[in-house]
Amino acid sequence: MGEYGDKNAAITGGGSGMGFAMARLLVGGGARVVITGRSRATLDAARERLGGNAVAVRGDVASLPDLDALADRVKDELGTLDALFVNAGIAPPTPFGSTTEEAYDELFAINVKGAFFTVQKLAPLLGTGAGVVLTTSAANVIGMRETSVYAAGKAALRSMARSLSSELLPRGIRVNAVSPGPVDTGILDSAMTPEAAERFKAERVADNPMRRFGTPEEVARAAVFLAFDATYTAGAELAVDGGVTQL
Ligand code: NAD
Repeated sequence: MGEYGDKNAAITGGGSGMGFAMARLLVGGGARVVITGRSRATLDAARERLGGNAVAVRGDVASLPDLDALADRVKDELGTLDALFVNAGIAPPTPFGSTTEEAYDELFAINVKGAFFTVQKLAPLLGTGAGVVLTTSAANVIGMRETSVYAAGKAALRSMARSLSSELLPRGIRVNAVSPGPVDTGILDSAMTPEAAERFKAERVADNPMRRFGTPEEVARAAVFLAFDATYTAGAELAVDGGVTQL
């Protein structure tokens, strides 16, 4: 039995990027995982790569009926959860002057409302000692151009890691956040023109103390540490960002 052989986990946005890296790390250690996302094709490809210990459930975290269905499925497949990774998110640029109400609402519906109700709907399945990990962002604390809506949403999540911890600690459940810096997962390419993505990525490398992107695996290791090993840590945010928010 591997390091996580007796563990069950759910990962929103687990079909790609950092969520997939979390799933691969856990399944590699023997855990059983449920991954979710919006794209059936992405989820099927991820499940194929992860093997029999992974279940893929299609659903939109901004939809409460989808989250109810997810909770039912997790209960059927795994029974209870030892870890919940609230990782699904979108990162479109939100220039101050041209961001529409629709774009604002969509970003908050997925990144903030979606995260809050993911925890609310799955909390009944979390056992004593379980860990919840929210994926925030270095953008929380950096005034980067064209990110005001995204950054504000991630700052809301950072705050929730504290307040949800207060509510869930009486049940022995810790809530923490992992805060990635730039990680080249494709999330930027899908949100911008190729030229804008290249420019944005070059800027992120230039202003990072380590002069490079992080890898999905580096973020996954930190998230899994928070979920399972950080047993005296609650309401904290762990920066995995090459030092860009610290130096
Ligand atoms: P990604 O695009 O590979 O992963 C995001 C995942 O979320 C995808 O699997 C997608 O299907 C899922 N998702 C999006 N909207 C959804 C919805 N409405 N319902 C269900 N699933 C949905 O990109 P990633 O970089 O791995 O992003 C993971 C998280 O990390 C996001 O919350 C993102 O904001 C955050 N983040 C990313 C970076 C970075 O540089 N890549 C930096 C800081 C924070």
